[in-house]
Amino acid sequence: MDYTKLKNTELFLFDMDGTLYLGDNVYEGAIELMEDLPRLGKKYIYLTNNSSRAGEDYITRLKKLGFPCERENVFTSGMATGMYLNQRHPGASVYLAGTKAFYRELVSYGIRLVNDELGHTDADTVDVVVQGFDTELVYEKLDRACHYLRRGSVFIAANPDWVCPMPAGEVLPDCGSICALLTAASSVRPNYIGKPNRNMIDVISEMTGIPNEKICAVGDRIYTDIAVAQNAGSVSVLVMSGETDEKILAEAERKPDYVLRDVHELHEILKTL
Ligand SMILES: [Mg+2]
Repeated sequence: MDYTKLKNTELFLFDMDGTLYLGDNVYEGAIELMEDLPRLGKKYIYLTNNSSRAGEDYITRLKKLGFPCERENVFTSGMATGMYLNQRHPGASVYLAGTKAFYRELVSYGIRLVNDELGHTDADTVDVVVQGFDTELVYEKLDRACHYLRRGSVFIAANPDWVCPMPAGEVLPDCGSICALLTAASSVRPNYIGKPNRNMIDVISEMTGIPNEKICAVGDRIYTDIAVAQNAGSVSVLVMSGETDEKILAEAERKPDYVLRDVHELHEILKTL
């Protein structure tokens, strides 16, 4: 196998669920890999489509699980959504259907939210509706979002994932599934910000000064983790420790650059380069 692309990689983007851990179960060798990357001359960012938690929450969570993590090591679809709103819709009024953590994240980006943390608002129209992976969803938020979308609001969603994987084969309905409900009710389709939108890697390339082709995305899901790398002209590593099995891989139109058992195998390869 030719590992030149891994050798040339300067920055690794790691998916978390199904790649480094599942729930609270850290995969064997995952922490050792992260701790060893600086010695191997590689930078890393934990990259997640999970918009139910804020960047700060991830730093706390990763440290608690035993992973090295500073502020510059985390990038979420929620953070990308805040940056996108400031770039493309500066000063716009926004209705957020999301968690309190996502709410605080958007406040930290200076976004003009018309609702409070729980989704309450008196506004009759808004410029933009933002939908997140809302684990605190209540009917009022769906009602408000649908009301605004039917009156011409722009529809932006933090991430397209249908489900969020949980231990023991369970899943949680994720942002993509909530958006499907809103689209059915309003006939408006969202613009998704998170992976596989290449914007996720373009922004990181801008922030770090590292060109896309020297960035490698590592993840367990083809339609987000691998697709974002392919869309951005970056390198991709699929790990078979999460939701992808041989059948899904065989049916994938575009194959990853590398398919590995898990991140432990990635570590073993990097040590030989
Ligand atoms: Mg994953």
